[in-house]
Amino acid sequence: MSEPRPAIDTDAVKARYALSAVVGRWVKLRKAGHELVGLCPFHAENTPSFRVNDGKGLYHCFGCGASGDIIDFVRAAEGVDFTGAVRWLTNGEELIPVDPAWRARQARVERGERSAAILAAQTQWHEARSVVGTPAESYLRSRGITAPIPASIRFGRVPLWRDKTTGKDGRPFPALIAACQNMRGTVVGVQRIYLTEDGHKARVANPKLSLGQVRGCAVRLGPVAREIILCEGPEDGLTLRQRFPGTSVWVALGTGNLPFVELPEGVVAVTIAGDNNAPGRAAVAAGSEAFAAQGREVRTIYPDPAFKDWNDELMDVRA
Ligand code: ZN
Repeated sequence: MSEPRPAIDTDAVKARYALSAVVGRWVKLRKAGHELVGLCPFHAENTPSFRVNDGKGLYHCFGCGASGDIIDFVRAAEGVDFTGAVRWLTNGEELIPVDPAWRARQARVERGERSAAILAAQTQWHEARSVVGTPAESYLRSRGITAPIPASIRFGRVPLWRDKTTGKDGRPFPALIAACQNMRGTVVGVQRIYLTEDGHKARVANPKLSLGQVRGCAVRLGPVAREIILCEGPEDGLTLRQRFPGTSVWVALGTGNLPFVELPEGVVAVTIAGDNNAPGRAAVAAGSEAFAAQGREVRTIYPDPAFKDWNDELMDVRA
């Protein structure tokens, strides 16, 4: 932030190469939908959680929260400053420059898929119903949630996947469906927790999947209030809500999103309730900085050190 602005067209530098071409020098990437995935170069892992999106020109690691654009990547991977990264990119003669038409096409596909996903999420939300008497209620009760469930959590039967080329849906699963609202309060995304009929997490590769827009949004377990508690996951949010009755709790859906939640003006104080692990602490640090820079009062709280998160603490599940 204190760096002088270099007299160089950074947009041109960013537009010159596909992000995947640069990342590919460090990480073996494979196609996953319209993105690429690989093992994160910034933390040790065995299953790939590092995603590269050439349409947006952004990368994001769902394990450690590392994210940014092509310049950020070179800075982190090469251990250089901003100027060093720009120099690295402008001297990279052996890289093949991007065809602008290809980039425009990628961006168009990206925009179309995004609006279709928002619409699909809104449809799932409107077709969902109250959790009372459903597998979603059983699931939450089994996680120690005894308080009434707020209206932003519903139950539905939704497909686990949709084939993007054929538009065909997979088999529907019972699911807890949480509404992701943007700053204006519009539901633009959903987080699903796939369940069995008797209220356990479904035995699928990833029982928690979001659809539509999540970035910048939050699941509001309470109203817009002067003070809110902000945490990472629905189970933690519901745990905090019954632990601090009367306080409005919002859920950011993931460590990566926490610092980017766009809060309405009425929220002047944020208590960030973190998880007791490295990504959790990093998210709390980044969130504290972001919300303080917006002129908000920020406090941070953690569960007892013996527990990984708030729901583990409630359930007495030691790390
Ligand atoms: Zn990582």
